[in-house]
Amino acid sequence: MDSNIDSNAPPGGLRPLAAAVDALAAQDLDGLPAPQAAQRVLVLRALLERLEGQWLRELAAVDARGAAGAEDGTRADCTAGWLRRRARLGATDAHQRVRVARALHRGQLAGTAQALAAGEISWTHAAVLARGTQDLPGQSTAQAEPVLLEAARRLDPPRLRRVVAHLGEVADPEAAEVRACRQHDQRGLWVSATMAGMVAVDGLLEAEAGETLLAALEPLARPGAADDQRSGSQRRADALTELARRALESGRLAVRDGGCVFPGCDRPLAWCDAHHLRHWLHGGPTDLANLVLLCRAHHRAGTRAAGGSTVTPTGTSPSHRHIEDSPSRRDGGSRLSDSRSSAGRG
Ligand SMILES: [Zn+2]
Repeated sequence: MDSNIDSNAPPGGLRPLAAAVDALAAQDLDGLPAPQAAQRVLVLRALLERLEGQWLRELAAVDARGAAGAEDGTRADCTAGWLRRRARLGATDAHQRVRVARALHRGQLAGTAQALAAGEISWTHAAVLARGTQDLPGQSTAQAEPVLLEAARRLDPPRLRRVVAHLGEVADPEAAEVRACRQHDQRGLWVSATMAGMVAVDGLLEAEAGETLLAALEPLARPGAADDQRSGSQRRADALTELARRALESGRLAVRDGGCVFPGCDRPLAWCDAHHLRHWLHGGPTDLANLVLLCRAHHRAGTRAAGGSTVTPTGTSPSHRHIEDSPSRRDGGSRLSDSRSSAGRG
């Protein structure tokens, strides 16, 4: 807080509250029986939310009267800017709190304000409801609020967010369309090299693209073994690197092989999949030296001939040996053989 906002010398009405907080801070927690200690954590949480509710109510009143800055005889143009300067909130946080205060106390969400004041829902729940209903027509919000509050009393904020999003689409498909467009415009990926040679990655994806990314990262980001010491973010970083590496490999594979490398086959790239010479189940790496492009028919034939077992680079499968021993009709074919032998077979 700003140095001249002294919470130890509060204005009259807040003195009992400050004294109660002082008394709490002076209590010896070690002497509390475990059930009481646990109960207190939960009750204090609810009290904090009730205080948040009261704070929002007073913020809304100050905002409505244009009283921001009045504490030192000035007049602030913008309530959120005043909160940033005097209470040192971040810009996003300050604007969000002013928006929520207006929605709860001067907008359609009076029931939400009451539930927060009673400690039935948290500040985060209230913020989800305010944000989720801001684009709805007032009438829809008034109708939906009791249902949303019921959900807010049972669900955590991320789940509540999904309920609210769904409601928004049902109540106002047009607004949902506008929101989808806005999200589409907001998407972005920022990649920049840092001074130390590391690369910073930050981005925002639309829901479906985000799901795709998460689904691709998930299997690669699992902990490797019991002694895997990497943090979750480190595992995701490794998984993203692996994804990028595989994409590069498959790009190079497409350039190198051009299409199915089976002798006499001229099926193009679009018909082909990467085929592991040594199956990945048997430790064959997913890198260029262990991959060839085969059309689906020859891919299946190769897998069948190998009997589902290891296709070694020396070739246990007749069709596979055939691939290796016959020069491809493509120019890339001889380079393929070279690159594979130079990659150290066996
Ligand atoms: Zn083929």
